[in-house]
Amino acid sequence: MAKQRFAGSCHCGRVRFIVHADLATAAVCNCSICTKKGIVHLIVPPADFELVAGREELATYRFGTGIAQHQFCRTCGVQSFYIPRSDPNSIDVNVRCLEGVDVHGLELARFDGQNWEEANAGRVPWR
Ligand SMILES: [Zn+2]
Repeated sequence: MAKQRFAGSCHCGRVRFIVHADLATAAVCNCSICTKKGIVHLIVPPADFELVAGREELATYRFGTGIAQHQFCRTCGVQSFYIPRSDPNSIDVNVRCLEGVDVHGLELARFDGQNWEEANAGRVPWR
């Protein structure tokens, strides 16, 4: 698969973005926060991500190492993208927030976030 263009947003639409990404790299993670949020990850370089609206609507939640910046819409609470711990120079887009994507039709890689250090050392499946 090649990169495709997707429009994404939070639930209320205050936060909107455009991303160019290859859905073949989408992944789920079993860490404490991803499990509860149900995020489907798609990590892209900043050049492939454009925040169209809502920068001032974003609040940030941090925990643990504090490296990941879990940004979410302060109105609707949806985390449509954020800065991931595994690659803080990139953007982690929540595939569930992309228009026209059926998450259940994707073959999702699995990241063992419960054993984060080992999983990240293997750079699986983010790269
Ligand atoms: Zn919102």
